[in-house]
Amino acid sequence: MELTRPESVGDAVSALGNGSVALGGGTDLIPLLRDRIVTAQTLVELRHALPRGVDGTTIGAGTTLGELEVDPQIPDALREACRLSASPQLRAVGTIGGNLLQATRCWYWRLKFPCRLHRVGEGWGDRCHARDGEHREHAIFANDFCASAHPSDPAAALLALGTTVRTDRRELPLAELYRLPTEDDRSTTTLANDELIVELDVPQPDASVYLKAMDRRRWAFALVGVAAARFGDEVSFGLAGVAPIPWSDLHGATPLPGTEYKAKILDALVKRARHAVAP
Ligand SMILES: Cc1cc2nc3c(=O)[nH]c(=O)nc-3n(C[C@H](O)[C@H](O)[C@H](O)COP(=O)(O)OP(=O)(O)OC[C@H]3O[C@@H](n4cnc5c(N)ncnc54)[C@H](O)[C@@H]3O)c2cc1C
Ligand code: SF4
Repeated sequence: MELTRPESVGDAVSALGNGSVALGGGTDLIPLLRDRIVTAQTLVELRHALPRGVDGTTIGAGTTLGELEVDPQIPDALREACRLSASPQLRAVGTIGGNLLQATRCWYWRLKFPCRLHRVGEGWGDRCHARDGEHREHAIFANDFCASAHPSDPAAALLALGTTVRTDRRELPLAELYRLPTEDDRSTTTLANDELIVELDVPQPDASVYLKAMDRRRWAFALVGVAAARFGDEVSFGLAGVAPIPWSDLHGATPLPGTEYKAKILDALVKRARHAVAP
């Protein structure tokens, strides 16, 4: 495997595709390469190519979660979501761009069960092993085809805050970065293989908060994460750990037998979050 270190977004994009994969901090990608879930002929290191840091409402995609959690310009919900993510060591190298694109933590997927999100020969797996098996940490919304639960805390905060994503070729609302996998297209993002997240534009709310229920008090993925942001009289939500992609609709949950408890936690956290951002 080769490593290339482009100095600009343009050079990084040119180096992608054809068996090359973008490398942020590597905290998610390197274990996937080690376990041969992802294969790459070349790693394109983004460290010197991407903008890094905060400038008003703009965040460079190469900014680490550790930098965001202490930056006073960042809305509370995002700072708290970063602070509650992973461990200090991981936050010191994990970037916000990589965090938004981290792979599912579904244990069947990570253990390479031939499920609907894994290639099997020329096609794809035809079962969701979690729906019939162990699914305590899985989704309560949109879980029919794939019941995985999106693990990103910052994505939930950025969704509630109405973030715009700038890639090397377009601007889009964060919600449009994600898609639910289907029979015809198993991907969970709308990003092209050679497309890079370059910057985020994060509006400043009047108030915002991120609340996270975990199995332990620190260093665990969200069982349920709730971000709320108030702009004037309007409150928007972003949820982690409850759907295959970051989710904003509070209605229409379809819990599995093992995830009914998540619906109760969600109700409680939404009430608390509404109270926290009230004028
Ligand atoms: C033990 C552990 C616990 C964790 N706990 C949490 C948690 O509680 N909450 C949470 O939110 N996260 C958690 N994480 C995930 C962690 O925050 C992410 O792994 C990290 O933020 C990813 O950033 P990275 O820069 O290391 O990405 P990488 O691992 O380098 O990349 C991840 C993916 O994004 C792609 N990529 C990276 N940057 C870009 C870009 N700019 N444009 C396009 N593609 C890009 C890569 O090709 C790869 O597919 C945990 C991770 C671990 C290992
Ligand atoms: S939840 Fe999704 S990733 Fe997990 S086994 Fe089912 S289809 Fe695969």
